[in-house]
Amino acid sequence: MKSVLKQTNIYVPTSLRELSMLCQQFPDALLFAGGTHIMRSAQTTPGSIISLNKIKDLLKIRRKETYLDIGSCVTFSRIVSLGAHVVPTALFKALSEAVTPSIMNLATIGGNICTASYTSDVLTPLALYDAKIEIRSSSGIHWLPVMRFVQGNGRTLLKAGEFVSTVRIPFEEWDIQSFLKLDITPSPKPSILKCAAAVKISKTSINDLRMVFGGVEPIILRSRELEGILIGNKLPLQNKSMDFFCSEFTKLLDSAGSDFLPNPYHTRTAIRFARHFLSSLNSTNP
Ligand SMILES: Cc1cc2nc3c(=O)[nH]c(=O)nc-3n(C[C@H](O)[C@H](O)[C@H](O)COP(=O)(O)OP(=O)(O)OC[C@H]3O[C@@H](n4cnc5c(N)ncnc54)[C@H](O)[C@@H]3O)c2cc1C
Repeated sequence: MKSVLKQTNIYVPTSLRELSMLCQQFPDALLFAGGTHIMRSAQTTPGSIISLNKIKDLLKIRRKETYLDIGSCVTFSRIVSLGAHVVPTALFKALSEAVTPSIMNLATIGGNICTASYTSDVLTPLALYDAKIEIRSSSGIHWLPVMRFVQGNGRTLLKAGEFVSTVRIPFEEWDIQSFLKLDITPSPKPSILKCAAAVKISKTSINDLRMVFGGVEPIILRSRELEGILIGNKLPLQNKSMDFFCSEFTKLLDSAGSDFLPNPYHTRTAIRFARHFLSSLNSTNP
């Protein structure tokens, strides 16, 4: 019996231009960054693989006054090595606690975003900081907020022939920031929880407040209306203001549906996180 082995062509571009051209020529090619997700999930052999990690522009980190640009192929360990004074707190914490050291040296920020998995650790903190990603193709460049780019579990707005080149995280002066992750629980349905919050306090009132939650489906939950409830409030926050915020948050969780946090313990922890974060503002002296 004759067996036919499928041939895979591997391309290793060294510039963004070359990569754009290859993506145009082979729009169905598998883009290979650190390979940690691909190795775990690949079921079929692709016709073409394009390796991303010899392209200098994808490995760059640029620190400007108002933002941090991270090339899509920068690994978790390189980001963490920048230090907590450079990397915004929630992202730093999420990455430091993410994976085993060997995976940290391979897993890239771009791969993590493009995986768009509920297990992806960077999505919740990136949404907290209103991070944007640069998308390139042979026909041009455009930017999208991470929150829009990720459409759902395993779904993004990336089109055939496009790739992610840079992640841009704005630098802002946050007075308090917090991140919490509860690991995946497998039954009855997989559930995971990530909570991220940041606040700016001017004199004695809340100038800006953000709270983002990561779950299963949708992967990211954020409501500007909810955040707006306490903006402008004077500190110390009254119990009734915190009660109102938490009751509106509970309604938001209900409207997100039971697939967001299938484990009720995760739902209770999300509400406790919100209340604890708000209570912590009363003992703050920025
Ligand atoms: C043992 C183990 C433990 C793990 N633990 C964690 C964990 O704790 N937290 C966590 O978040 N993840 C975890 N992961 C998942 C994985 O490591 C991460 O999602 C990682 O960041 C993926 O990055 P990568 O560079 O390896 O992506 P790859 O596997 O190379 O690619 C992932 C997907 O993204 C696409 N892609 C990659 N880069 C680009 C780009 N620039 N443009 C367009 N598409 C692109 C690829 O085609 C592929 O579809 C774990 C994986 C393993 C094997």
